[in-house]
Amino acid sequence: MHDNSSKYRPVNGLSDKQMNKLADINKKAVSTSYGCDLINASMVGIENLIELCGDDASRNGLAETPFRVVKAFMEYTKGYQEDPAEILGKSFDVEFSELVLVKDIPFNSLCEHHFAPFFGVAHVAYIPQNDVITGLSKFARLVDAYAHRFQVQERLTAQIADTIEEVLRPLGCAVVIEAQHYCMCGRGVKKAGASTTTSSMRGVFRDKAEARAELLALINSKN
Ligand SMILES: [Zn+2]
Repeated sequence: MHDNSSKYRPVNGLSDKQMNKLADINKKAVSTSYGCDLINASMVGIENLIELCGDDASRNGLAETPFRVVKAFMEYTKGYQEDPAEILGKSFDVEFSELVLVKDIPFNSLCEHHFAPFFGVAHVAYIPQNDVITGLSKFARLVDAYAHRFQVQERLTAQIADTIEEVLRPLGCAVVIEAQHYCMCGRGVKKAGASTTTSSMRGVFRDKAEARAELLALINSKN
């Protein structure tokens, strides 16, 4: 159900300027009555959460917080609007069949259990087959397309590898993610600085110890 009028549907208490900010992030949501109902209900939810925590949602510093939180969450989860396969889809025909590694791609994500941040770096590698190569910047966009969703690190790692495998059909691909979780650092067990490493190895990286060893040496090298 698309509303084709140029004006967005009204959302309680939000100015046109605020609606435009939301539209910059997710035009589809602000252009449908369903989306606007969800924005309204989400802001009421945040207001209630503030009250539940014991503060006064109407006091000065918190009055616009429901809007800010909803806007921030729409930004954190922009990946839902992306088609990851399409990002990798534009491939080139270049004669190259050696290991390609893009190291230290920074990312941030939200743990789906607590909506707490986790963040770190992703290393993405593949060995092209049949000269199917993609632009190196595409891997950073691919990481973001999956990181900007409600996630767990293990699934994030596997989804990136799955997409590379499906779209580029390489001889092998590998994704290694090192991350710190606010869940672990800031609440619960409170272990500041603890980091978690996950990896997904496909094709030759899974089957051949030497390929895996070459990759891990490159990831662990300083440059
Ligand atoms: Zn968590």
